[in-house]
Amino acid sequence: MATATKTFKNFIGGEWVDAASGETFETTSPANGDVLGVFPRSGAEDVDRAVEAAKAAYEDWRLVPAPHRGEILFRFGRLLADHKDELAELMAREMGKVLPEAAGDVQEAIDMSFYMGGEGRRLFGHTTPSELRDKFNMSVRQPIGVIGVITPWNFPIAIPSWKIAPALVCGNTIVFKPATDTPLLGERFVELLVEAGVPAGVINIVHGGGGAVGDRLVRHPDVPVITLTGSRETGIEVMRNAAENLKHIHLELGGKNAIIVLDDADLDLAVEGIVWSAFGTSGQRCTAASRVIVQRGVYGELQGRLVGAAEQLRLGPGWEQGVDVGPVINKRALEKIHSYTEIGKDEGAKLLTGGEAAGGDGLGDGNFYRPTIFGDVDPQMRVAQEEIFGPTTALIPVRDVDEAIRVSNGIEYGLSSSIFTRDVNTAFRAMRDLEAGITYINAGTIGAEVHLPFGGTKNTGNGHREAGQAALDVFTEWKSIYVDYSGKLQKAQIDTAE
Ligand code: NAD
Repeated sequence: MATATKTFKNFIGGEWVDAASGETFETTSPANGDVLGVFPRSGAEDVDRAVEAAKAAYEDWRLVPAPHRGEILFRFGRLLADHKDELAELMAREMGKVLPEAAGDVQEAIDMSFYMGGEGRRLFGHTTPSELRDKFNMSVRQPIGVIGVITPWNFPIAIPSWKIAPALVCGNTIVFKPATDTPLLGERFVELLVEAGVPAGVINIVHGGGGAVGDRLVRHPDVPVITLTGSRETGIEVMRNAAENLKHIHLELGGKNAIIVLDDADLDLAVEGIVWSAFGTSGQRCTAASRVIVQRGVYGELQGRLVGAAEQLRLGPGWEQGVDVGPVINKRALEKIHSYTEIGKDEGAKLLTGGEAAGGDGLGDGNFYRPTIFGDVDPQMRVAQEEIFGPTTALIPVRDVDEAIRVSNGIEYGLSSSIFTRDVNTAFRAMRDLEAGITYINAGTIGAEVHLPFGGTKNTGNGHREAGQAALDVFTEWKSIYVDYSGKLQKAQIDTAE
């Protein structure tokens, strides 16, 4: 069932419109190259119109009671649930992940919509005592204005929801730029928001590239907040380009996540966790396990079992039943992933399995890459240091838990981390000492839940967190309010009335 090619538009100020230039680009399936839709290739003029619409809509939206804004998110969550199968199917076609994972991606957006919908009746501030008599103190969250939302292609429904749901409930308006590899899912996301009742101008979508659309949003003086999920390199560029306007910049960037397996681990569980974390979504998760740090006592056995398990994985189009690993996003990604295979071999790592693109057997012209495992990897090799963003993982032997933690921390990223051990003392040490925003005990590196903060340390971000209560700090500003009902001028720190 191929999706019929259709031409789509931007959504600005409540209307579906073409790009000012009239130019377009196509979105294609990474599994077979089918063209799934034609989208406007927008530019600065389109962004400016969208920002103007969002700025105008903000004046009323910020005054809509937060519980009502939350009700729209509840409706949105229900619509996502009604359309879950359709969206998952579309995701398998446009982005490539297998159906159960695609359904999980949509489920995350459902969960986030309900969680943030509920925030409409919370958005808690604080009341505190005053140091003076007859004076009342409180702090409240206030919306900020137009939020520029720039997203990657790997979680094409979940990631927009992590940003747009909290931004909306807090009273902001949005200009959304989805990745050019997944515009169709971005479009469906916005259509459902509109159906849920988001008013004209509050949500706008502008399709196009990072250089044209994204960069204009980043530099636009009327967009005070940019929330970006993408690569470290893009994050650095965005931060630099936004400096002129001293914007709030929220960055969720790359990872080089490790699973530690100690001698006392449950190996069955560890193998399952590693295979799921390294090869799920073809390794194209920011939390993918691209390093496995193994204590020497179990290294040989774990290596053998992992290679066996990886070779059992079935590659194919994500929408086919029984497929474990779908394609990678595009030909450029395929080339990058393969270049790291060559780099690993040149560095002296042992290629244990995979290491090549896969074709034939119904894989056609899709961007398939065999699950790849390197053994005997030195922690300083590039395959153990740089984000590959594909189905490649590196086994690193270590002596003991001290070395394991040192190696796990010895990278520039700090998103997710994991340890398999049956020793509770070691587990608690790992929780304390692993330098990462997320630590899993006896589970792989993936599986975040929406009510906990999500994000990383070091070069994975700039100190903010997505999801949970932490997300609210990205999309609101604190205001402290002092109400003096004494009828006289009291001076804090000077009038120390008793
Ligand atoms: P990318 O950085 O190439 O692009 C991300 C988005 O930024 C796209 O919409 C792109 O068009 C836009 N963009 C690119 N250059 C820009 C610029 N100069 N100004 C403004 N916008 C610009 O990333 P990608 O390939 O789409 O996604 C993969 C990356 O995302 C990986 O590094 C992965 O680890 C990361 N990621 C991180 C998280 C997280 O939560 N930490 C989650 C998912 C993905």
